Amino acid sequence: MKPKPFKLPNFVRITHRVKYRVRFVEGFPDDPTQVGECDFEHKVISIKRKQRPTRIQETLWHEIGHALIRENKIEVDVDLEEYIIKRCEKPLARIIRLNGLRFK
Ligand SMILES: [Zn+2]
Repeated sequence: MKPKPFKLPNFVRITHRVKYRVRFVEGFPDDPTQVGECDFEHKVISIKRKQRPTRIQETLWHEIGHALIRENKIEVDVDLEEYIIKRCEKPLARIIRLNGLRFK
């Protein structure tokens, strides 16, 4: 059975008090290779629209990872943070898919 297409949520709640808006963007002018961004100040996660659906999910989990670390005040070196998040984005997206977990 073909899995249902992934629906990008409008918002992701990171903690009880904090939620981030999620939006598609056409790209990031400063860096054409960039596919996502997590704006802590405005609480906005931006995802590049022109990606495969699987990559969109992975990018979303990547940016949620940054929000999770920031909003829970987890102190970690920026390079280590990027490394951990990068290594986890595919496995995390896979767990979500394998268990049929979805945003409301
Ligand atoms: Zn990152």
